[in-house]
Amino acid sequence: MKRLIFILAVAAAWCSSALAQSSNEDLKRYVPILPSVKAQFFDVDPKLGYAVKNVGRDMYVISDNMWQSAFFVTADGVIVFDAPESFGKGIPAAIAKVTDQPIKYLVYSHAHKDHIGGSTVFKDIKDLKIVAVDGVAAFLKEENDPNRLIPNVVFADRKTITLGGKSVELTRHFYHSVEGDLFIYVPSAKFMMAVDCVTPGYAPFQGFDITANFGQYMKVFAELMAYDFETFCGGHLTATGSKKDVEITEEFTMDVYQTVKRVHNNLDQNAVVAQAAQIVGTDNKFLLFKVVLDRVTSDSVKELQPRWINRLAGVDVWMESQVRAAILYVRWDDKY
Ligand SMILES: [Zn+2]
Repeated sequence: MKRLIFILAVAAAWCSSALAQSSNEDLKRYVPILPSVKAQFFDVDPKLGYAVKNVGRDMYVISDNMWQSAFFVTADGVIVFDAPESFGKGIPAAIAKVTDQPIKYLVYSHAHKDHIGGSTVFKDIKDLKIVAVDGVAAFLKEENDPNRLIPNVVFADRKTITLGGKSVELTRHFYHSVEGDLFIYVPSAKFMMAVDCVTPGYAPFQGFDITANFGQYMKVFAELMAYDFETFCGGHLTATGSKKDVEITEEFTMDVYQTVKRVHNNLDQNAVVAQAAQIVGTDNKFLLFKVVLDRVTSDSVKELQPRWINRLAGVDVWMESQVRAAILYVRWDDKY
């Protein structure tokens, strides 16, 4: 028995070291971050865990180089946009360094906890207005998460906050989360915040920013470009961006969509299935279908990767997931 346990222990150790080695090799296949993107990293003080950047006209963006939130200083108080769980607790101190004005509003871009899971730091602020669309408010009420304060100012489609003679325009969109997403627009600062759609310098995160609706995601760029803004805040990573970043992400998205559509619709699926069936038979229908989807994926990635690898960071990491997200739309929603 002892001997068997010894053999099993040796086998387990070997397996885990073999696994570790192969994952090290896998990691080395990825390219270094583009220098142009690295140059945009916020200069984060490791003790604080975040950095604050004035993007002009009383508008500030806070980042820990992974998540972003923002705040707007007016003559009658401060409006905060999102409180990420990573550095949320530092936001009041970051604001206090810039202004003596009290925090009057907290606006939620959407319900996801990585963006608002630090909101409890605001729980003792008297008369704080916590603003969200109705879908987000209903979800948070039901979820009753102690880390996400429940909104007390709820609206359906659009709302304008006026404070200290300045305004913030909130409009509901559907490009990312099931509960609803906001465009947060500050006209006097020419500032637009739309979280989880465009990440300046980078390809979108996995599967077009884990969109719940790729059809709506493809519309977000035109919806953003209709506004007059100079600074774009996407809620993630390092840099703030501009309209140019929205345009590049749209070009990327439409290239993936059109490539996947062409590859998918031109593939002789019967031939691919027949070839696989010669090896595995015809009983396992799921497997034969997977072979088709895998072929569309690999052919699309092979074509797209060289076109984008030197233009946006993260293409090597997430291109396959973008292609798979586009396949869901092309195969099940789109017309031929
Ligand atoms: Zn999200």
